[in-house]
Amino acid sequence: MTNDEICREAIDEFGINFQYDMLIEECSELIQACVKVKRGMSTASLIEEIADVENMIMQIKYIIENKTRVNSGFKIDWNEFRNLKLKRFEQLLKLRKFEKISAPYRTGEKIEKEEGRIEDEKE
Ligand SMILES: [Mg+2]
Repeated sequence: MTNDEICREAIDEFGINFQYDMLIEECSELIQACVKVKRGMSTASLIEEIADVENMIMQIKYIIENKTRVNSGFKIDWNEFRNLKLKRFEQLLKLRKFEKISAPYRTGEKIEKEEGRIEDEKE
């Protein structure tokens, strides 16, 4: 089966609302896996949950694309949206590099180093 065929069959079998619920559920499992990795546990469950979320995102994209096409004929260019967001993030990184943004956007690790809770890695 192609990915589109799997998406179509999943929607026919479970319905659109259920697929949104599954995306929510898989996102929550991904969040839990992230917390466990931060506590030093293996990345195995994180890898599995990333795959689960990606598969649900694929299905939700399929739902959105097909609704959008039926309604307007407009084809969503996911790569264009992703690249636009990535460009914005790149600009944020550049701003941070020159220390032109305020403290609330510091990373957790940087905050911990600045507050002396963790030390810089020894060479
Ligand atoms: Mg899962």
